[in-house]
Amino acid sequence: MKIAVLGAGAAGLAAGLSLRDRGTDVTVFDAAPRPGGKLASLRKDGFLLESAAIGLLDRHGDLAPLCARLKLELLAARPGARFVQRAGVVRKFGPGVFTLRELLGAARLPFTRRAPGPQETVLDYFQRRAGPAGAFVADAIQTGVYAGDPARLEMASAFPSLGQRARRPLSSFAGGLQELVDAFARELGPALRLNARVRAVSSDLQSGRASSLPQPRSAGTLPRGAGQPRDASAGSPGFMLSLDDGELHVDRIICALPAPAAAALFPALAPHLALFESAPLALVHFDIDGPGPQSFGLLAPGQPVPGLLFPSALWPGRAPAGRALVTAIVGSVRHPAAAALPDDALAALARGHLARTLHLEVQAPLHITRWPQAIPQPRPGHAQRLAALERALPAGVLLAGAWYRGVSVLDCLRQGRRAAEAIHAT
Ligand SMILES: Cc1cc2nc3c(=O)[nH]c(=O)nc-3n(C[C@H](O)[C@H](O)[C@H](O)COP(=O)(O)OP(=O)(O)OC[C@H]3O[C@@H](n4cnc5c(N)ncnc54)[C@H](O)[C@@H]3O)c2cc1C
Repeated sequence: MKIAVLGAGAAGLAAGLSLRDRGTDVTVFDAAPRPGGKLASLRKDGFLLESAAIGLLDRHGDLAPLCARLKLELLAARPGARFVQRAGVVRKFGPGVFTLRELLGAARLPFTRRAPGPQETVLDYFQRRAGPAGAFVADAIQTGVYAGDPARLEMASAFPSLGQRARRPLSSFAGGLQELVDAFARELGPALRLNARVRAVSSDLQSGRASSLPQPRSAGTLPRGAGQPRDASAGSPGFMLSLDDGELHVDRIICALPAPAAAALFPALAPHLALFESAPLALVHFDIDGPGPQSFGLLAPGQPVPGLLFPSALWPGRAPAGRALVTAIVGSVRHPAAAALPDDALAALARGHLARTLHLEVQAPLHITRWPQAIPQPRPGHAQRLAALERALPAGVLLAGAWYRGVSVLDCLRQGRRAAEAIHAT
């Protein structure tokens, strides 16, 4: 059986390696000249800059087996306080952020462990749990992950394991998250094909002339996290992939592409995929003279610069001696135009925010990274939309990726592994 994995982001790399480790004939295709998708670490003037994720937070015990398999050594982040900006004032995130009325309101609420209801928003969930203080808690927590709007995120889908304590501190590697990408690429070897955009997917009737995909199966779906229609890989006639250098027959496909790219290849899924939206973000990296703030970062919920990160305070090797690195995250669901500003205006916005909040003066940015579709947003109704999408999924196609069942790198790796397991189970 020949399997194609479309996309070599975190989800596609994990799917590819899982299949290869089981002895399956698999090829991972990526349009880009390098693997990793959004994951990339760039070296510039002695700084180590991350293009997207800066660290991994392990709530499911995934990291130890992953690092053993890839022969990687984790680097735990140094502890660093998290700061928030509320009503223009910067404070350490803790009780001091809230008014006495809010703290009393939270204390008076009966303790309840009731799980989030279907379609309950992040805002409603935290207000139910913490009263008036809940609105700010909800916004601060979602800002750090989604750069979204707490009233437009579905709690059960956005934070399915919030109550679960992380098994390790935030972790990365000496060479940044690029080490993870490089290790996958090394292990995949010739099973990874770069500069290989998949242009079209058609059903395969051996002649290669067919243009329509197999009909969707009417199966139910597995429980949350299992991730695929039960018979997604049963009875498929196979597929023909169109690449720039020719066509290729495969028996099964794991589609680990962003939703818009998946929609272009699977028109029958396009109306479903169009419903998954993302927050746009730009990352502006600055060089600070001196040690810089010894903190994790600063969240400013609802602001056009919702986050500041200090990677050089967390890990060694992120900045040259005597200097520090600060990464400003610009944009969000509520400020999409900020992420699209021209470079000069973007840098000016980030510098103004640094000066106002932390009295830090910085020069021209070291580097700017833009992600028009940075972080997928599980809106209220996300679980239902996934169920409808899975009912329309052609037999033999499995899905994985940040927009599907979890945005973190470890969520994406897990989805890739599970898609590979689902293929092997049939
Ligand atoms: C600014 C930012 C900060 C983040 N911070 C963190 C963090 O600290 N911790 C964390 O855990 N997560 C973080 N994340 C989330 C995480 O980095 C991403 O969700 C994850 O890396 C996405 O992986 P993916 O596999 O879904 O796809 P992607 O990385 O989007 O990869 C998709 C791949 O598909 C390829 N492709 C597209 N079309 C085609 C085609 N037709 N044919 C072949 N290939 C194609 C692309 O070239 C790309 O390589 C952050 C994300 C961003 C943007």
